[in-house]
Amino acid sequence: MALREIVTVPEPVLRRKARKVTDFGNELQTLIDDMVETMRAAPGVGLAAPQVNVPLRVIVVEFGDEEDENVPPKLYTLVNPEIVRSSNEMVVGTEGCLSIPGFIGDVDRMKSVTVKGQNRRGQPVRIKAEGWLARIFQHEIDHLDGILFTDRALRVWKPQEGEVVPQD
Ligand code: ZN
Repeated sequence: MALREIVTVPEPVLRRKARKVTDFGNELQTLIDDMVETMRAAPGVGLAAPQVNVPLRVIVVEFGDEEDENVPPKLYTLVNPEIVRSSNEMVVGTEGCLSIPGFIGDVDRMKSVTVKGQNRRGQPVRIKAEGWLARIFQHEIDHLDGILFTDRALRVWKPQEGEVVPQD
């Protein structure tokens, strides 16, 4: 495994629509391992392949239980993810992005989503998420379509000292 460089705006790969994955071979396995290591080192709660300069539809997410900090964080690896169901209810939360250092913003997101995709072996998976986990999935899947949180933000600002927001 190796750390990869996280690219930041205005790197063009962040604005491109990422390609669907069709080859689940060694190259993809290495990419996923590197993305997990890079996300953990950042540290971040999620990472999309375009953020490490690879225009493929791959995301990794690692997030614990919001209510119980004793529950260990769960790692999700999703290839070709898409949101197939979502709540009508929206919630505003404050987000940051590893590719937009130095800024955070309030973003309106769907409160719960069902994400369909494949795991790293190409088998179908379906995940129901709500709250922060749902927010992270929406943020990452946006990355695959070249959309950044600042495009959706109600307002964006430079965080004050001690104002810490999960980055992804
Ligand atoms: Zn991001």
